[in-house]
Amino acid sequence: MTAANHSRLFTDLSADLSALDSAGLRRRRRTLEAPCGPLAVVGGRQLVSFCSNDYLGLANDPALVEAACAGAKSWGVGSGASHLVSGHLAPHQALEQQLASFTGLPRALLFSTGYMANLGVVPALVGRGDAVFSDKLNHASLIDAIQLSRAESKRYPHADLAALERLLAVSKAKRKLILTDAVFSMDGDLAPLPELLALAERFDAWLMVDDAHGFGVLGPQGRGSLAHCQLPHSQRIIYMGTLGKAAGASGAFVAAQEAVVEWLLQRARTYIFTTGSSPLIACALLASLDLIENGDTRREHLWQLTAQLRDGLAGTRWQLLPSPTAIQPVIIGDNFEALRIANALYERGLWVPAIRPPTVPKGTARLRVSLTAAHSTAQVAMLVDALKALA
Ligand SMILES: *Cc1c(COP(=O)(O)O)cnc(C)c1O
Repeated sequence: MTAANHSRLFTDLSADLSALDSAGLRRRRRTLEAPCGPLAVVGGRQLVSFCSNDYLGLANDPALVEAACAGAKSWGVGSGASHLVSGHLAPHQALEQQLASFTGLPRALLFSTGYMANLGVVPALVGRGDAVFSDKLNHASLIDAIQLSRAESKRYPHADLAALERLLAVSKAKRKLILTDAVFSMDGDLAPLPELLALAERFDAWLMVDDAHGFGVLGPQGRGSLAHCQLPHSQRIIYMGTLGKAAGASGAFVAAQEAVVEWLLQRARTYIFTTGSSPLIACALLASLDLIENGDTRREHLWQLTAQLRDGLAGTRWQLLPSPTAIQPVIIGDNFEALRIANALYERGLWVPAIRPPTVPKGTARLRVSLTAAHSTAQVAMLVDALKALA
């Protein structure tokens, strides 16, 4: 045994890991032996997967694969530097322009992930003496972003506009930022965006909208949650869309007024101090944007599957949340019970993730069913039948 094995640091770590085990909170990865799609292969076994955020089924689409290969041939694999040094290549620039025009906002800035985008934007816009007003169910990356900014954190109960209004009314903060998921990632419901914008206008606050689950899926041509809600144009909106979910690749972008984006380019540390993403990803994403814009057939199929699942489980023991999106959580409550049901489904060849705290609030462990346009009605019928049999 080395000295390290005797160290308190290691005994503490093993105790912490055991505590995760006894609380039903230990996570395990499964290695996939086939590309992302409705049929996953794990340990040589085929499963129908309801796990991915690949809502339009683009992650392994031939057009994207082709564009990525052609992109690698023309641009290589790496960008070689951060964007502000020499890592900003023509495909990145073209993609930013396409994203701005697609979302109808003046300018867009690419980030390597949505997590990085959120961590970059919030501290660039607010700091000490400012305040951030954040929905309690916001994504972890937004919560971390607030901490990093050192602005005062004011969390309001999920979608509670009256509570938010009270917090804004008494705030003496120099600058205010309202922060919200557009589609809540573990519940699938939509934020009250028009009302949030009205409050932002009234109290002179920024409104930052994280549309990780709406971009590509909601709104005409998949233009996202702002278009879906027909939100009026407002200079105070900062829109964040991710490119690893419906767009099928990876990355994220922030779209806003010219001056806001220019400031982010100057000050967002997660933009400045990181290597530009691979140009081949930008090439794949340019192809993806085309498919998103012309993807009404995919989206219609997705909404049919969503209705099929909801109708199929109506009146059963399984309680769905009132989600109008492709995220359809089945609330279980207890961590072990959620795991038990997820395992029983897995035995039947159906892979649905059990989501537990801290990802969701204590006592609300759930099966998070996510549907994609690549699923078939037969696959959704299998899931409905299996859940009924387990009820
Ligand atoms: C997935 C997600 C993110 C992070 O995006 P990545 O590109 O995966 O890093 C941010 N916000 C929300 C709401 C998400 O669901």
